[in-house]
Amino acid sequence: MKKDRVIMLSDCQSFYASVEKASHPDYSNQPLVVAGDPARRSGIVLAACPLAKQKGITTAETLREALQKCPELIVVRPRMQHYIDVSAQITNILGTFSDLVEPYSIDEQFIDITGSLSLFGSPEQIATAIQDQIRRDTGVYARVGTGYSKVTAKMACDLWAKKNTTGQFTLTQEQLPSLLWPLPISQLFMVGRRMSAHFQSMGLGTIGDLARLPLAELKWRMREKFRKKCDIDAELYWRIANGIDDSPVSPSTYEAAPKSVGHQMTLPRDYHTLQEIKTVLLELSEMVSRRCRRLKVNGAVLSVGCQGASFETPTGFSRQTTLSDPTNATSLVYEAAVPLFRQHWDGQPVRRVHLSLSGLSDESEYQLTLFESRPRYRELERATDALKNKFGDTIIGRASSFTDAGLIKDRAGKIGGHYK
Ligand SMILES: [Mg+2]
Repeated sequence: MKKDRVIMLSDCQSFYASVEKASHPDYSNQPLVVAGDPARRSGIVLAACPLAKQKGITTAETLREALQKCPELIVVRPRMQHYIDVSAQITNILGTFSDLVEPYSIDEQFIDITGSLSLFGSPEQIATAIQDQIRRDTGVYARVGTGYSKVTAKMACDLWAKKNTTGQFTLTQEQLPSLLWPLPISQLFMVGRRMSAHFQSMGLGTIGDLARLPLAELKWRMREKFRKKCDIDAELYWRIANGIDDSPVSPSTYEAAPKSVGHQMTLPRDYHTLQEIKTVLLELSEMVSRRCRRLKVNGAVLSVGCQGASFETPTGFSRQTTLSDPTNATSLVYEAAVPLFRQHWDGQPVRRVHLSLSGLSDESEYQLTLFESRPRYRELERATDALKNKFGDTIIGRASSFTDAGLIKDRAGKIGGHYK
């Protein structure tokens, strides 16, 4: 018989804000937020420490609103690379308890401790040791949910460990009917506001209402409700409600990612004007971003450069910049590449251009969508990727119109936004 697994999800409380408070001990007793651009009151609160939350401050509100609630608020600019580094540090801490650690987002990681119990003690002892070690090394308070699958660990953390005083909770299979099932359907992992309303209109008010339906009946009822076949969704929700999730905690997906994604192009002749070079930068942005999207990673550092035709008298440069926000969107990469190139190019003829993204992180590490317009053109890019993968690159010619539109949209978003 297969041994039951013991899986944990560790989640950092107010991650960005906690990291900043750890780096600035003088702020420890003050309300603090991390916000897009402290110089502009229209910036968005990305994270608020518990003291700031007590003042009624919430993530995603504007700095102006936050300062109205709490004029003495400490406002700190985000340092994404530092948060990614601290996240990796936590991965290493968890790695001392098991070699099966899988980052789920920048502040959440799964760890399978099934094989570690004889070494490190009970799940409770391990959870406490993990919390202590993370606190000691990073200053961050971690909550640990324990389950027998990834989805039960996630729900143990979100629904209980985050809300109690120990920051720990174990959800067993036997407890599902008494603890999980009485909760409203809106509390089920993966169920958003809209889906919750749909389920309620189907008479499924609690998680148990859904869990107890035979799967075939749920499929049939969802098909009736949405007037299309949605068996896969039905099965997903049904499995979550029943705690069924065989997926392994797999570190490989994370470690297999390359360090950087780049391309270089040798031009058919010397290019002399920025106008010409911009076309090449656009193509390179598209190629590199598309590869990143396929790998499901975002890049934090953009490098561009060029070389002249002569080997005897080499010309050109290679420079890099940290993006205001990790991305794999063609339009954002292009928009950063052009000024970087313009700034460092001395006007010498160009024969070869390169562009790369490094500082790669998992796409899903985004805690919050910073730009209103981002999901829309991400979807757009996904759609064009799908078409290109299916029919070849020529199906959608040079996508300049879409990129231009994307840039205009993006600028519109930034005027009132939080980046200069
Ligand atoms: Mg968190």
